[in-house]
Amino acid sequence: DPVILWFRQDLRLADQPALSAAIGQGPVVPVYVLDDDGPGDWRMGGAQRWWLHRSLAALDRQLRDAGSRLILRRGRAAETLAVLMEETGATRIHGLRHYEPWWRAAEEALGDRLCLHDGNHLVRIEDVRTGSGTPFRIYSAFWRGLQPLLPPDRPLPAPDDVPGPARWPKSDTLAEWRLSPSGPDWSTGFDEDWTPGEEGAAARLKRVAGLIGGYPVDRNLPAEDGTTRLSPHLHFGEVSPRAVWHASGGGAEVDKFHKELAWRDFTSGVVMQLPRYADDNGRAKYDRLEWRTGKAATADLRAWQRGRTGYPIVDAGMRQLWTSGWMHNRVRMIAASFLVKHLLIDWREGERWFWDCLVDADYGNNSVNWQWIAGTGIDANMWSRIMAPLTQSEKFDTGNYIRRWVPELADVADAAIHDPEGAGVRPSDYPAKIIGHREARERALAAGRAI
Ligand code: FAD
Repeated sequence: DPVILWFRQDLRLADQPALSAAIGQGPVVPVYVLDDDGPGDWRMGGAQRWWLHRSLAALDRQLRDAGSRLILRRGRAAETLAVLMEETGATRIHGLRHYEPWWRAAEEALGDRLCLHDGNHLVRIEDVRTGSGTPFRIYSAFWRGLQPLLPPDRPLPAPDDVPGPARWPKSDTLAEWRLSPSGPDWSTGFDEDWTPGEEGAAARLKRVAGLIGGYPVDRNLPAEDGTTRLSPHLHFGEVSPRAVWHASGGGAEVDKFHKELAWRDFTSGVVMQLPRYADDNGRAKYDRLEWRTGKAATADLRAWQRGRTGYPIVDAGMRQLWTSGWMHNRVRMIAASFLVKHLLIDWREGERWFWDCLVDADYGNNSVNWQWIAGTGIDANMWSRIMAPLTQSEKFDTGNYIRRWVPELADVADAAIHDPEGAGVRPSDYPAKIIGHREARERALAAGRAI
């Protein structure tokens, strides 16, 4: 009997344990189900859909090279798969385990028709436990708990041949899903930076070993190309984290990199325990925090989204995000802190904007990082830790990052670029600061004290 191979955020053929298992059991029917209902408010955002379109096309090409093809279906995941089982006479579905709440609900609904494999994390998340057997809530403890399980298994090779059924079931076309905006759109800059799909991921992966030596320092410098930029490839599973681990080489510096890579596993563990983590404060006392709302707050949110806050490092980051679908980690932290603390706007507004704009938007990584910066999370900074955007900017940017993304400031000298207004050289087409740093800090501290 045929078996179904269910692709989700694991759009690859190499190190794909579900595929390896399926091949041994009969002709394989690979399927991707576009389910916009299961995730509800967390259905994929615009940038992710742009990526998905290209990644699915790439996966289909690769499957065809291996004598197979990708079947596309749309609908509630579990129901759609049940229909496909009936149509094809398949008796089994193979897939990789995921931790987003909507995927877990679909897995549960499929019950023992679904055979789950591990492969989208360094290790099995359930295996990382405290001495008393509970999952971790603090990253540093998680990292220690992970040690006995490392290094992760070596990645499996891609099969040369994926045997298919005698008759293929019908498939939607990618075009009819309209994942990618047609006509003039905001995503024209994406093509320059990204090549979705397993081959694009493999090309990035080749660079990894070479940048590890400088990683501990360069990863904080947004003007440098000092990080792997593998995040969207990892989010869509075009490369497995185990493959990334084993491609990163040895040496003292690699530890810092492994530690970042393991954050991904940690955030999956968090949403496994707290499935509503993208919606609910990790610590309930923050439910009482009085976020700003109303007209002025809406205008401030808009200015932040558009990169017009008057803080060059924040604006550069927000424009990089809009233009390329990605933002450097250091700048994500600065921009997120600015929204939550300086503007006193609910972190969920920022999380949503990132969700729609990031090609790597990820349920666990996005929510855990936002709550960490906001101070509302189970593993988080104290509320009173407020990043100073100008100091951060001076410390980590030479000015080249700002100049690249904020063209109005292209002619401002190094000494003034972090704070052109303060230096009295703000160009007239660049906005004044929407709030002063000291004033913002006082307001945020007062809001924290009030709860
Ligand atoms: P590298 O430094 O090369 O790291 C390699 C990989 O490790 C990354 O691709 C990523 O998978 C993982 N990783 C690194 N740092 C983190 C981290 N802090 N948390 C979780 N995983 C990490 N990352 C996402 O993948 N999706 C998101 O939606 C997302 N939202 C974020 C929101 C905020 C407010 C902040 C502060 C960070 C967010 N991050 C998110 C984490 C981080 O910024 C990105 O993973 C990183 O910038 C991706 O670039 P890279 O691939 O070059 O990273």
